[in-house]
Amino acid sequence: MFIKYHIITFFSITEKRAKARRKYRHAVSIAVTAVFFLAGCRMPGESQPADNPDRPLKYEKTDTAMGTVISVAVYPKDDLTKEAEESCGRLPEELMQEVKRLDEELLSKRLDSSEVYRINENAKRGEECALSAELEALLERSAQVAEDSQGAFDYTLGNLTALWRIDELTAASKQEQEACGAPDEGKIREALLKSGYEKVRTENGRVSFSDPVQLDFGAIGKGYALDCLKERLQKEMEAGSVSGTVAALGGSILVIGEKPDHSPWKVAISDPENPGQPIGILEISETCCISTSGDYERFFEAGGKRYHHILDRISGYPAESDVRSVTIVSRDGFLSDALSTACFVLGKDRGMELAKKYGAEILTVDRNGEVSFSSGMSGIFRK
Ligand code: AMP
Ligand code: MG
Repeated sequence: MFIKYHIITFFSITEKRAKARRKYRHAVSIAVTAVFFLAGCRMPGESQPADNPDRPLKYEKTDTAMGTVISVAVYPKDDLTKEAEESCGRLPEELMQEVKRLDEELLSKRLDSSEVYRINENAKRGEECALSAELEALLERSAQVAEDSQGAFDYTLGNLTALWRIDELTAASKQEQEACGAPDEGKIREALLKSGYEKVRTENGRVSFSDPVQLDFGAIGKGYALDCLKERLQKEMEAGSVSGTVAALGGSILVIGEKPDHSPWKVAISDPENPGQPIGILEISETCCISTSGDYERFFEAGGKRYHHILDRISGYPAESDVRSVTIVSRDGFLSDALSTACFVLGKDRGMELAKKYGAEILTVDRNGEVSFSSGMSGIFRK
């Protein structure tokens, strides 16, 4: 059922630790290139349609949001009216705004404008509070995956992620990383006591907590945002002006529709040992979301050990399963993102089982660089 291959991973925008903040800009420019390459889009300067050299092949935009690089490319259909063409041209910016809205108004744990921030403040005081239908639905779906993964995916690890400060330390200098090291064992225990999806209750538009847990939707925000973009793009495609779109939010990518030349979308896969090096591609011809979780995406090193951003709520430390990266393909962005994180923590065999339960395709790279994937992946992976 599962086919073995050489190392696969995917999308390493942040794999090179920046030693100082100014290097972030450089990392972003690498990332932008990677997104275009990975998404199989043509780079600027590529040949335009011969019949109308002034008409862009695609409309695109790259920006940062949700703590990562986001990039959208919209391919218009041929022979559009001027109005429809202009509407296509505005679409990438509108999609960006939608991602930013989700971050700023709903999901961010850092921005005080977001609902998650407000709920977390209430949770610290042990107060229940109202929540929007959108967040209630998201909490309920998240609880289901948490339950099914036996807590491997847990969206209430905000106290633990704040303690580890992986994002901050990823961008720190080697000396700062060494000086900081892993958090104090006692503090990890303390943070674990204030974690756990079982401690959250939602009912009739209100949320309450039995302990001051902190919501952290870092593992599903991008995938959920892709679902929102997908909904909007489906309407645009029904309206007839858009041929296809690719949207990449960090390690989560949506492909929808098709390129005007009908060629499949190509999503390159790189090696966790050498994340800038693509060694295989997924060729995708139908609407789907592709999410990868890997130990090379965000991490710092101290005392000869790598501490990455996907945490295990049993140990309180970065998860140490038998895999180094997991890629999930699903029509559902929320699921692809939630499952990639969950399956990373669960490891190969249990991860395969969980993905199967949700009807998602999975590809893992283990610690020996060996790749395993579910049967549906074998038809779309090219070495
Ligand atoms: P991803 O890159 O999609 O696997 O998500 C990782 C992010 O989700 C981290 O940066 C944390 O914000 C958060 N996170 C870390 N560990 C977990 C976990 N076990 N379950 C859910 N979210 C997590
Ligand atoms: Mg995820």
